[in-house]
Amino acid sequence: MAIANFDINRLQQALTVEAEHGFSNLQGKQFLFADFLQSNLNLVEETQKVAVKYTEYSEYSLSQRQNLVAETRRILYDIRRRELEQVSPIAKTKKPRTEPLKPSSKSPLTLETALSQLDGLGRVAEKLTKLDLHTVQDVLHYYPRDHVDYAHQVAIKDLEDGSTVTIVGTIQKFTCFTSPKNPNLTIVEILLRDRTGKIKLNRFWMGKRYANRGWQEQQKRLYPENSLAAASGVVKKGKFGLTLDGFELEILESSSDRIESETIGRVVPIYPLTEGISPELIRKVVIQCLPLAAKIEDTMPPKLRQDYQLVDLAQAIASIHYPEDGEKLIRAVIRLTFDKFFYRRLVSLYRRNQQKGTSFVPQSKLIEKLETILPFTLTNAQKRVVAEIRADLQKTTPMNRLVQGDVGSGKTIVAIYSILAAIESGFQTALMAPTEVLSEQHYRKIVEWFMQLHLPVELLTGSTKASKRKEILRQLATGELPLLIGTHALIQDGVNFQRLGLVVIDEQHRFGRDQRSRLLQKGEDPHVLIMTATPIPRTLYLTNSEIEVSIIDELPPGRKPIQTNLLKPAQRKDAYELIRREIAQGRQAYIVFPLVEESEKMEDIKAAIQEKETLQEKIFPNFQVGLLHGQMSSANKDLAIQEFRALKTQILVATTVIEVGVDIPNASVMLIEHSDRFGLAQLHQLRGRVGRGASQSYCLLISNSKSESAIARLQVLEQSQDGFFIAERDFQIRGKGKDEGTEQSGHAGFAIEDRLSDEAARQEVFQIARQAAERVMAKDPSLDSFPALKLEFERHYQRLQGGVIFT
Ligand code: ADP
Ligand code: MG
Repeated sequence: MAIANFDINRLQQALTVEAEHGFSNLQGKQFLFADFLQSNLNLVEETQKVAVKYTEYSEYSLSQRQNLVAETRRILYDIRRRELEQVSPIAKTKKPRTEPLKPSSKSPLTLETALSQLDGLGRVAEKLTKLDLHTVQDVLHYYPRDHVDYAHQVAIKDLEDGSTVTIVGTIQKFTCFTSPKNPNLTIVEILLRDRTGKIKLNRFWMGKRYANRGWQEQQKRLYPENSLAAASGVVKKGKFGLTLDGFELEILESSSDRIESETIGRVVPIYPLTEGISPELIRKVVIQCLPLAAKIEDTMPPKLRQDYQLVDLAQAIASIHYPEDGEKLIRAVIRLTFDKFFYRRLVSLYRRNQQKGTSFVPQSKLIEKLETILPFTLTNAQKRVVAEIRADLQKTTPMNRLVQGDVGSGKTIVAIYSILAAIESGFQTALMAPTEVLSEQHYRKIVEWFMQLHLPVELLTGSTKASKRKEILRQLATGELPLLIGTHALIQDGVNFQRLGLVVIDEQHRFGRDQRSRLLQKGEDPHVLIMTATPIPRTLYLTNSEIEVSIIDELPPGRKPIQTNLLKPAQRKDAYELIRREIAQGRQAYIVFPLVEESEKMEDIKAAIQEKETLQEKIFPNFQVGLLHGQMSSANKDLAIQEFRALKTQILVATTVIEVGVDIPNASVMLIEHSDRFGLAQLHQLRGRVGRGASQSYCLLISNSKSESAIARLQVLEQSQDGFFIAERDFQIRGKGKDEGTEQSGHAGFAIEDRLSDEAARQEVFQIARQAAERVMAKDPSLDSFPALKLEFERHYQRLQGGVIFT
């Protein structure tokens, strides 16, 4: 492993990026985060002790990872500081660490002033390094995740049923216990008191993990008795008097201190909490730094600021901490959100410009030939997406495009057009699919067309015979083979292309980031096309600065909407009747049981086998029933699919193995048992296995759930065939039901855009930020004509290097 010098900056960057990605042990271009840290920290003696800890990083819990990252930061920061002191001995003698320094006297405060030099902050500054706060500037950019509005503060004696209020009082008692009757129920009881009275607040946690002692102790530590807290929520009259419904609770400061709001205004910022650092401490530091906000130079060119009506950056920073009013706060949030996504997008565009991909010059001969073979013509949406891809392929920057298209919208053929463009330009291509069933299916379809185009194509999966594999690898290495289709067998060592120019990944959500990047490394910055039927909500793709999105928003003609019905178990016999009728007309049916692939345990499998047998013997004795589940060997899976395709079986009992991509147009009924146990997107995928031919198809969702919300969720499918609509609804429903218990405190869990409460507003800001970045990049890719912007850009560039830095 060739390692460069010990570089503190790079290590700090790596730590920042890791923190920003939720401590997930990121995969870099060459190394995993932990390996990168371990080997680099080993380079100097002072950090060897901490280096060792990284050998276990992958086994650490989240909080252990957080602590290790914080510890490493502190050590690195100390080293840096000592180095600085050594090069300027005057500084060293002038300020012994414990003695507070009056920065105003000799060296005026600047944005770069280290926190350790601020008045009276000596030891505190050290604590702040835990939050990655080292300078005045860092503090100013440490945004509050909320504000408590004291304007609506109400005394406990004045509470009225139904009003939304904030109460400020002391936590007199905090108890947390698991119900003796129900081990699934954990109750938090808080007694809050102000000068005028007391109120009891309750919070309930469902789930065994809250019965955990450690968790309960942690809650107690978060809300210590006698501390001052603000609770806001809706007043509700209950059996035991007034309480607050769905309240938020914030610890303000220890009760010995006075409420800051008396001195600094009515809206108080709430910063993300971190162990060992009290909120009042952070507020104190912020207030010290705040006057310097005025010195922040605006990096955005005035023209852009004007066009997008952005407030001045200095103003935004001042307002984000202590806004004068709600309007100013919103404008600050918009500005800061804009900046974040603007620079993100700019960095990706810049990075993309740096990569030297190969531009293709397709001549369309192969495509013309293909079009004489195809039994259909492309839909307008397909044509548009093909054109978008071809434009990308002709650029020297590598394409990174996601094609989203609902199930059955015809993504495969779009991929083939792109593949042919690459082959025509003299490059090899790879098509990777998540399952053997799906790769096999792609192969069958494509081999038919490729034969007529006189192009070889091969299939490589885990069950490819060794001799065949060897032959394929040989043809790849010599460049004879223009297209290789397969599963993740494609990313194994030994699979080497002579000239890989385009990588297509089908159903990309099934692959990890790691697997994707390993495939890309088989070529030199190859063009990348990814395809998915699981629509990414607009917000998510707008915030992902790395990717372009094409949408196939039209189904091939002649498709009839799939009739979808939600059934009670008692109606199952109607469902069976429908299946018999359809089979009598030559059609076929799937019956799916909710066994999630990862958890297909033996007893579940037995249940599926059992169900299959009952169905065969008792319900459909006159038909052939096949079986497909995740634990079958791939040869048997293949056989099951082939028999179904060939109509040897008319009914296929399956687990979710068939969820992605299976294309058998003759199937017209999809019956899903326990449908409430599936996610909406998954159900939509399953439903997409039918309705592929011209005949009317049916999707029957059986559920015995009594939960209203579960039924409401399933009804979305009755109402809509539109995967985008369904995904948005799913996203909304699940987003609302977010489990508070899993939320992270600490800055990794907070994002400035979350402060825009309105989804539409968020999308609007993302959209304009993206657009602004594209405008700037189009105008001057070197950014030289925007010097201030370029400087700021470089700061972001360093931080966002992400995958590139662990090299
Ligand atoms: P998906 O987008 O779900 O991957 P496929 O690519 O499997 O969809 O296509 C679904 C079916 O529609 C296939 O049988 C395919 O041959 C057919 N198809 C694709 N495009 C068209 C078209 N423009 N007109 C008619 N049929 C099409
Ligand atoms: Mg597909």
